[in-house]
Amino acid sequence: MLRFTSLGSGSSGNGLVVESGTTRVLMDCGFTLADTKARLERVGLAPSQLAGIVVTHEHDDHMGGVARFALRHAIPVYLTRGSAQWLPPDFPAVLMRYVDSHTAFSIDALSVEPFPVPHDAREPVQYVFSDGASRLGVVTDLGSVTQHIVEKLSGCEALVIECNHDLDMLMEGPYPVSLKHRVSGRFGHLSNSDAGRLVSALERSRLRHLIAAHLSQQNNRPELAVRALSAGAGCEPAWIGVATQDDGFAWREA
Ligand SMILES: [Zn+2]
Ligand SMILES: [Zn+2]
Repeated sequence: MLRFTSLGSGSSGNGLVVESGTTRVLMDCGFTLADTKARLERVGLAPSQLAGIVVTHEHDDHMGGVARFALRHAIPVYLTRGSAQWLPPDFPAVLMRYVDSHTAFSIDALSVEPFPVPHDAREPVQYVFSDGASRLGVVTDLGSVTQHIVEKLSGCEALVIECNHDLDMLMEGPYPVSLKHRVSGRFGHLSNSDAGRLVSALERSRLRHLIAAHLSQQNNRPELAVRALSAGAGCEPAWIGVATQDDGFAWREA
């Protein structure tokens, strides 16, 4: 059985736990040492129960807490060579595992499939996790959708998808023009309507969980993200979950 939960999602910090049997993997860690431990406790876990940390890219909200947490608890870190350049120079090689962005690998009972995404980072990837029976696809921090991403996320039981902003709210909001262009650009972040279009392009016959993630607190509202994803999936809005910055979302079984 594949279970997953979010420790929090958004530009102030991200962390998602995937579990199969006694194998538990943390995807990204954008929280401080103490906050990460507290957030893990909230979902019933201790740091010693993590078999690895998989990293998507070097931005602080994803990687800011990785090195210290991994060092403190002696947890291996899986990341691309591009992301690894942002580890502190004295980070021990014994805890480093390089990820090739097109090659699946295993962490105990979990299979992990990376795939590259267009984002303004050195070598960003996102991941599909599987226990052999169910698949969870996670994709945040991407400015645009490629056919490769559509293929990777098709056929999943569970999806966590970035709904960063409502384009009108972003454009009419307080961000400087240059930042508006970065966020909405091809290497920025996915808007609600981009996310809806992505979902509509996927093969969804096995889909049972669809969760909006990485919502901007300035430029989005949960009900707008939910509306876009439910339109894309052709389902009731009540069926869509939302990952919040403070609480993420509770355990789900894929
Ligand atoms: Zn981010
Ligand atoms: Zn990012």
